Amino acid sequence: MTDEHTHDFRHTHEHRRDSHGDTPPTRSSGVATVAASRRVATDGGQPRRRSETGVALELTDVTKTYGEAATAVENLSVSLREGELLVLVGPSGCGKSTTLRMIAGLEEPTSGDIRIDGESVLGLEPEARNTAMVFQNYALYPHMTARQNIGFGLRMTTSLSDEEVAAEVESAAETLDVTELLDATPDSMSGGQQQRVALGRAIVRDPSVFLLDEPLSNLDATLRARMRTEIQQLQRELGVTTVYVTHDQTEAMTMGDRVAVLSDGEIQQVAPPMNCYHEPANLFVAQFVGEPSMNTLAMRNGRDSFTGPVDYPVVDPLADAAHGVDRVTIGVRPEDISVEPEADDAETTLPARVDVTEPVGERSFVHATLDGGPSVTAAVEGSAGVRERDQVGLRLPPDRLHLFDTDSGEAIHHPDRESATAAFGPV
Ligand code: ADP
Ligand code: MG
Repeated sequence: MTDEHTHDFRHTHEHRRDSHGDTPPTRSSGVATVAASRRVATDGGQPRRRSETGVALELTDVTKTYGEAATAVENLSVSLREGELLVLVGPSGCGKSTTLRMIAGLEEPTSGDIRIDGESVLGLEPEARNTAMVFQNYALYPHMTARQNIGFGLRMTTSLSDEEVAAEVESAAETLDVTELLDATPDSMSGGQQQRVALGRAIVRDPSVFLLDEPLSNLDATLRARMRTEIQQLQRELGVTTVYVTHDQTEAMTMGDRVAVLSDGEIQQVAPPMNCYHEPANLFVAQFVGEPSMNTLAMRNGRDSFTGPVDYPVVDPLADAAHGVDRVTIGVRPEDISVEPEADDAETTLPARVDVTEPVGERSFVHATLDGGPSVTAAVEGSAGVRERDQVGLRLPPDRLHLFDTDSGEAIHHPDRESATAAFGPV
């Protein structure tokens, strides 16, 4: 049994209630659901707010270093309002788990502050932090039934009676649709069922903050897509503030109210998913978000044209944005490139040779190599209408280009979102 595993259970309901000075929610009625206990009303009949400000979780300049050399997380600041689902996304090793573990109290930050419901939790034991964490590998007790697994934390850390625990477990099981599994042990359950039980174990504790660390990574693609939707629904239903960690940009784009993109321990952008897509703050976000990735071309800014492996005219609206920046990188989404049967004379249409076409249902990806330059990918509606080794023209509409300062990586220009619908229009 891992350390984090045992910590996961040692959480007290009593602490949270004490710390808020509220009347504890009634847990003894036997009919109170998990969701209902969360919505216990105060005198005014309004849902109980856990913090004065509506900010449920706040990380301020959080840094974690291991020894001298290794910085896992650097100056990370982000705050979540009550009930928000934030997806923390980034490649493997970028510091996602370390961040969650610091929130849960399984690691202490080297510097910075973490506040839950307005109170700093630095130095508090994990069990005193009102968080519940769900892990990729479920971390269920193998010899216990689902009922025992879900109820374990309540039995160990609260003064609830056996009947009260049983009622809580059953209502959590109902919420997660695992009632018929309550007497089964993990080895007889599918991965999806085990993950539901692990979720049950977390929600039964009615946490202030729900922490999910790549909870769907061990599931096959179909189940993953279904659980993605279910977790979103569950999160909304419970209204519980949630940090959801994933390396999968599809999960990030589809699940979160906001996405925090992390690279090398540093936050690159925190924004609603579509903002990260349409207005990526820098080259990292631009290339991490979106599938296939944004194409990029590193160029020199000549007066009349961007020059590099290929030439591209400096026209409106690019001229103003690029003014004074010597090394620029052009970014263009695959769906914004159109494939012409042959190169025409327009300077914004670049000659290229098709390497491979990939039909993917309602659209096709065309991978082509620009004459004298790098490979790019275009996404076109329907079948591509071109074949391997065809000579084509790739039209990069000036009003669909992003520009980045190559040296800093920062974005200096984004296309107007209004013009996006024109991407699939007539060419
Ligand atoms: P992620 O969850 O995004 O894949 P982690 O938070 O697990 O990344 O790790 C971030 C970085 O910190 C990695 O480079 C990892 O090797 C390092 N790291 C994590 N835990 C430790 C540790 N206990 N000791 C030393 N380095 C660690
Ligand atoms: Mg991790």
